[in-house]
Amino acid sequence: MKKKLIAGNWKMNGSAAANDALVRAVIAGIADDSSCAVAVCVPAPYLAQVQMLRAGSALEVGAQDVSAHDKGAFTGEVSAAMLKEFGVRYVLVGHSERRQFHGETDVLVADKAKAALAQGITPIVCVGETLADREAGKTEEVVKRQMAAVIHTNGHCISEIVVAYEPVWAIGTGKTATPEQAQQVHALLRAQLTAATAHPDRISILYGGSMNAANAASLLAQPDIDGGLIGGASLKAPDFLQIIAAARAARV
Ligand code: PEP
Repeated sequence: MKKKLIAGNWKMNGSAAANDALVRAVIAGIADDSSCAVAVCVPAPYLAQVQMLRAGSALEVGAQDVSAHDKGAFTGEVSAAMLKEFGVRYVLVGHSERRQFHGETDVLVADKAKAALAQGITPIVCVGETLADREAGKTEEVVKRQMAAVIHTNGHCISEIVVAYEPVWAIGTGKTATPEQAQQVHALLRAQLTAATAHPDRISILYGGSMNAANAASLLAQPDIDGGLIGGASLKAPDFLQIIAAARAARV
């Protein structure tokens, strides 16, 4: 039975003191129940702190970006090998904020996923349409194009990635895709990935975009939603824990 995955994306938030309180509360809340996988993707300077805090718990640590390069003259970038040394299990790749504010292309996102996989780190590859795309009826075309680039570059390793469907118009806006809207896109992504792998049972597709304690259960009940990528609500332990509880209740 595949576990659901609930991953928090702290974005550029946190402080040593706030992280300490948040991580301790999350760990206390998940206790020794490992029926749902839980991770927090934290800003790079806090990886060591969170890695220390999580020791002995079921909480996994993730990063928010990775370089496509192994090493060299790439000032400001962090390689997958470096993340590996900090016990990183997951890394977000192609988050819409990186695509939008840092000009990340489909090809670069695919290369970053490859760099992570080469170090045994699971990339959480984010795909999703903008509001303009949706209103132009281009949702399917856009997410399939984004996914196709990652499949093309990563070939038979594709079942080792996690995908996060994050409609850009739902991220940080309080506007959530309805369970039906999300399910529709998840189903087409699953079909696309299934056609590309011999291990369709390993495919994991998270929903992200204003998921919160109130709407998590109905989203996570959808047959093709394998978990959630949580931004704002992952910064408040009680909210994050309620989403985790909803994922446990909706176990695949
Ligand atoms: C995200 O940043 O990936 C995200 C889903 O944010 P939020 O939950 O705040 O919409």
